[in-house]
Amino acid sequence: MSDKIERVKTLIIGSGPAGYTAAIYAARADLKPVMYTGMEPGGQLTTTTEVDNFPGYPEGIDGPTMMVQLQQQAERFGTEVRIGMITSVEFSKEKGGIHKVVADNDKEIEAETVIISTGASAKYLNLPSEQRLRCGGVSACAVCDGFFYKGQDVAIVGAGDTAAEEASYLANICNKVTMLVRRDEMRASKAMQHRVNSIKNIEVRYNTEVDEVLGEQVVEGLRMVNNQTGEKEEIAITGLFIAIGHKPNTDIFKGQLDMDEKGYLITKGKSTKTNLPGVFASGDAQDKEYRQAVTAAGTGCMAALDAERYLASIGSVEEAVADKY
Ligand SMILES: Cc1cc2nc3c(=O)[nH]c(=O)nc-3n(C[C@H](O)[C@H](O)[C@H](O)COP(=O)(O)OP(=O)(O)OC[C@H]3O[C@@H](n4cnc5c(N)ncnc54)[C@H](O)[C@@H]3O)c2cc1C
Repeated sequence: MSDKIERVKTLIIGSGPAGYTAAIYAARADLKPVMYTGMEPGGQLTTTTEVDNFPGYPEGIDGPTMMVQLQQQAERFGTEVRIGMITSVEFSKEKGGIHKVVADNDKEIEAETVIISTGASAKYLNLPSEQRLRCGGVSACAVCDGFFYKGQDVAIVGAGDTAAEEASYLANICNKVTMLVRRDEMRASKAMQHRVNSIKNIEVRYNTEVDEVLGEQVVEGLRMVNNQTGEKEEIAITGLFIAIGHKPNTDIFKGQLDMDEKGYLITKGKSTKTNLPGVFASGDAQDKEYRQAVTAAGTGCMAALDAERYLASIGSVEEAVADKY
């Protein structure tokens, strides 16, 4: 552990749309934010190609480029972006208390406010063919990528409420949706099951799993296997959607911050305040409902405003700073 302890006004953990938006607002308010990017600088959008639904890009933009631009915008106002992980935290329970944080198991930092924007990770099946085609037709976000498969045949893997909802969403856009359910029934609520079963262009295959995603550069088909009989079958599809859940990246906050049973951080009312003063949560780490770049960015903005107001309330910045937004 290094001897000299650094003190920062606002520490931002995570570099997705939530983190960078928080950084833009915090830097413009002179909170001199320091950001730790984590293992995935730029966040989830760096794993996708075309982003078509973020406002301000009439022609769409590829995810990695968009995240570089967000970084540049945050740096333009003085955000210090550091490649590294926050590996442990010891949050103060007192208003005005100092939060102790360790980066890369080595560097101690004291922060007056902390903005958490550590996101969530989509779960994948982890088949080699699925991983190889993640930028070629395999997606973990139907709302984000469904449009690219308009009028085409696709498949979706999953059996919960989210999978059922995404299958219904895809059925509106695509020609046919084959839904693969591992067990002999869905986990989704009865209402969602009913909805799926009533949509004519959704075919549900029970006891069925992905054997291999077919295609070299892009998805061209799917080999399915019936886990009861071992029988294999190939279908032609252009898109495969994985809807088997997300894991919020919040393990290091366990025991200190309130979270739900899945690990999503709980925020108070319409704010980004957590149960601890001076600690704010934004983006997918606290949102299991919408999980979009623009909603993550929106809560990143809120977190910076909440942090600034908190700092003003403890006399660490002038009230007038709020006027700078
Ligand atoms: C394949 C795919 C395609 C998508 N397409 C779209 C789309 O077209 N439009 C759209 O609106 N949304 C899309 N989404 C959803 C969108 O990417 C997310 O909603 C958004 O990125 C969430 O932003 P975030 O800032 O909360 O977190 P994330 O983007 O998840 O970023 C989290 C950040 O936290 C960092 N981190 C985690 N733990 C630590 C730690 N301990 N220390 C430091 N840093 C840490 C990570 O390195 C990462 O930088 C897509 C998602 C996927 C997976």
